[in-house]
Amino acid sequence: MKYLSTRADSNSSDRKQFCEILLEGLAPDGGLYLPESYPKLSVNDLANLRRIWSEKGYADLAFAILSLYIDDIPSADLLALCRKTYTEAVYGTKDIVPLKQLDNGFYLEALSNGPTLAFKDMAMQLLGNLFEYELARRGETLNIFGATSGDTGSAAEYAMRGKRGVRVFMTSPAGRMSPFQQAQMFSLMDENIHNIAIEGVFDDCQDLVKAVSNDAAFKAKYKIGTVNSINWARLLAQVVYYFAGYFSATSKDNQKVSFTVPSGNFGNVCAGHVARMMGLPIQTLVVATNENDVLDEFFKTGVYRVRGTADTHETSSPSMDISKASNFERFVFDMLGRDGLRVKSFFGDQLSKTGQFDLSSGIAAARTAYGFASGRSTHVDRLATIKSTYAKHGVMIDTHTADGVKVAREFLAKHPQSDVPMIVLETALPIKFASTIVEALGVEPTRPAQFEGIEALPKRVVNMPADVAAVKAYIAKACD
Ligand SMILES: *Cc1c(COP(=O)(O)O)cnc(C)c1O
Repeated sequence: MKYLSTRADSNSSDRKQFCEILLEGLAPDGGLYLPESYPKLSVNDLANLRRIWSEKGYADLAFAILSLYIDDIPSADLLALCRKTYTEAVYGTKDIVPLKQLDNGFYLEALSNGPTLAFKDMAMQLLGNLFEYELARRGETLNIFGATSGDTGSAAEYAMRGKRGVRVFMTSPAGRMSPFQQAQMFSLMDENIHNIAIEGVFDDCQDLVKAVSNDAAFKAKYKIGTVNSINWARLLAQVVYYFAGYFSATSKDNQKVSFTVPSGNFGNVCAGHVARMMGLPIQTLVVATNENDVLDEFFKTGVYRVRGTADTHETSSPSMDISKASNFERFVFDMLGRDGLRVKSFFGDQLSKTGQFDLSSGIAAARTAYGFASGRSTHVDRLATIKSTYAKHGVMIDTHTADGVKVAREFLAKHPQSDVPMIVLETALPIKFASTIVEALGVEPTRPAQFEGIEALPKRVVNMPADVAAVKAYIAKACD
């Protein structure tokens, strides 16, 4: 399988291999990588994947799906990487992503049992192993430089800790993450993990990352890379759990399911789109947003309108607080019949000039063709949903998952689908967002045993002003 950029001229024959785009991230033309075409599964293929999943488990299912997209890693190596990544020891369950039934035909798919208790581990843990493998094969090293307000940075650090050939330099706004999130990151003592607390807000951290990325000489000299959500390997790893969820909720391959996905940068639900394009029988992909409803607005109206900083709300589901959805370009590429030049004019040109583009004439047809629906949720909705789910089912859900459950229930009330199960993706565990759980339920969320007392552990973090020169000097020193 070869890869192309979402902004590529359809006449261009510029194609790349999986391992090239693995380390590259964004395409040089500013676009995102996608496979030349989606492998289409026959009835037999799907039956075969179900057999692999039920007889051999999640890691082997991951290998079978990844093999359709990766032909520049020998099979035996790829299988070993998948088996090393998706283990009962790491996820605490043999099923890796078990379903929890709430009502008849209404499920949560547990994606948050990894080391940092958010679904980002599902992809990042694989990325860590792929990076270590590919860097060793090339005899190269990589310094990951990023900014985080919480989930991404911790998932990246837990994926890269102790890996040969990789260092992580992660900036975060000093004092602004939840105490639990700070403790998760700062308690890591691994030599190759560097926490940098910046005096400022998350935007200041992102500006530092941009400034360093724009310094081509520094970037080349210190081999600076990223692990952000536009990386195709992360998206690909996420495709796997749509299959696992489907197989768990059905017994025959002619049945359909729907998914509701708490969404921010459109990475998670884009993986569902890829699964559906491959032929997984998904009826509807319901995009759930919080008050930052850029995506809900698009799927309702066809107008994509990015928000300014002032119009981006700080909410109690913070990992969905986005002003634009960085993976959304991938869906638009498919929706526009893979016309890279049109994508380029929308994302490379129109968005920066006017902050929006209008696909309203095609949105109704696209919703049907690609099975999309959407909804939004507010803080009050999250509190009510956390409360009712706990009262009725005895299940504590986090604020992001609550956005999903609220939107899923609303969707089902309007579109009853008696024989089609609805699976809501559980994207984090409640302990990560304890203060809102206490607000909703009056009790502290349950804490997995391995996180007992982490706030009291010694911390490994340096404090710095939001100053590019200081950060560069720190990186240079750590690399010498
Ligand atoms: C990152 C994240 C999301 C949003 O996922 P996207 O792939 O950006 O749409 C939702 N919930 C949680 C808990 C997250 O960490």
